[in-house]
This record gives sequence, C-alpha cells and structure tokens, in this order.
Amino acid sequence: MSATVSDAEIVFRLTGVSKTYAMHKIPVPALRDIDLTIRRGEAIAVVGPSGSGKSTLLHLLATVDRPSAGALWFRGRDLGKLNDDQLAELRSRQIGFVFQSYNLIPVLEVFENVVYPLRIQRRKIDRSRRERVMALLDEVGLAGCASRRPGELSGGQRQRVAVARALVIDPAVILADEPTASLDTATGARILTLMRDACARHAATLVISTHDPQVLTFTNRQVHIRDGRIEAIQAEAEAPA
Ligand code: ADP
Ligand code: MG
Repeated sequence: MSATVSDAEIVFRLTGVSKTYAMHKIPVPALRDIDLTIRRGEAIAVVGPSGSGKSTLLHLLATVDRPSAGALWFRGRDLGKLNDDQLAELRSRQIGFVFQSYNLIPVLEVFENVVYPLRIQRRKIDRSRRERVMALLDEVGLAGCASRRPGELSGGQRQRVAVARALVIDPAVILADEPTASLDTATGARILTLMRDACARHAATLVISTHDPQVLTFTNRQVHIRDGRIEAIQAEAEAPA
C-alpha cells in the first residue's frame, strides 16, 4: 500500500480525533486520538466489543455529532469549519444510513420509505425518478414489495428497504451501524453481500460497524477498536486466504 493517497481518493480523513461525553458532569472518553483515512469506494468495517466507540465514530462520520478534539475532513472539506445547517445539507445529499433497527416509517409503503430522503430534499418525484426507485427496489430484491408496509416484511426484507433508502440519494458514502445485529447469520450474510455489491455498483464508500466476525470477509479493511482507540487496521491483502 502506498503511503500517500491523492486527496481525490479520500472520503474521510480523521486526525487526532477524540470524543468525550459528559455524564452528570463526569467526562466519559468514547474515542481517543483517532487517525484514519477512508478511501473512495472502499468497504470498511469498524470492529470492536460493545462500548468500544463504534457508534460514536459513525456519528462523527455521519456529521450528527462533532469531535471534542482533532479534525475531521470529508471530501476535502474541514467539517469543523461548517455550521450546523451546512452539515445538515451535506448529510442529506451525500450520506446514506442503515441502522440495526431499520428505522423505517411503519405507516408508509415501501416505495414511500425509500423516496423519503428525496422528499426531505424537496425533490420532485417525477416519472423517471419513480422508475429509478423501482429499479433500485428490483436491485435489492424487493420489486414486488413497493406497495407493502414494513410490518408485512421480514427483518431481512426491511433491511433491504433500508439499503435502498440509503442509496436513493446517490450518496458518496453509506454508514451502517450494526446492520446485521437484528438478523440471523444467513440473512445477515445476504444483507452484507447486497450492501457491498450495491455500494460497489453505485461507487459509494461503505463503512459498517459490527461485532459480527462474518463481516470481516465482506470488507476490504477492518479497523479494530477497543476502549476508543484503534488497536489494529487489517487490510484485505494481509488477511489469511
Ligand atoms: P459501541 O457502539 O461500540 O457499543 P459507543 O460509541 O456507543 O460504543 O459508546 C462508547 C462509550 O461512550 C461507552 O462508554 C458509552 O457508554 C459512552 N457513550 C456513548 N454515547 C454516550 C452519550 N450520549 N452520553 C454519554 N456517554 C456515551
Ligand atoms: Mg453501537
């Protein structure tokens, strides 16, 4: 691996990032001095036990929270220099999310759940857009489910809806916080394959947090964290065959 990566190839760059929460005025360090570069198009896993800081790291990447110290860059922009409105704008246009608990809107049909991020952006859902959304549903194996409600779907199908919803904005990056934790092993494996392949087709970078060991075989690099520190970074080429 070359030591330097051209800026255009970098999606996220973190230098000396720390995050400390205050619990009843007592500081709780959640991330400590993280240096990390995430490249365009890679699928990366953040692996660590419960409480190690995985969700905290994803929240910082998602721009829904800010570091206590250090710098976070997204596609060449220092996020510390953006105000909350600018961050919200960037987030709604460039970052897709997949959650452990799917976070679908129960009263909306699958189609409306998937287009929801576009409605937030006040984009018009015209005929060609509808066709693209139907193609996206087809891509995640839900072509026949557009008018169903989330409550009528299995856990794996709900997560497929969530993946389509994350992709609908054509994001630069998809962040998935323990996306397989509510699924059985086989369904989880299918969702991981789906996410990885869909992100590759859409040229989106994928960051997955997990303590599920099977995710390791689905990603190009694994960042192991413990007690808020990076313990090791393992790359595909270094993994045993
Ligand atoms: P993980 O996702 O790996 O389980 P988290 O990022 O959720 O880990 O948590 C890391 C540490 O930060 C834990 O000690 C947790 O208790 C603490 N923490 C997380 N969120 C908050 C919060 N909002 N307020 C206070 N402490 C928090
Ligand atoms: Mg978590």
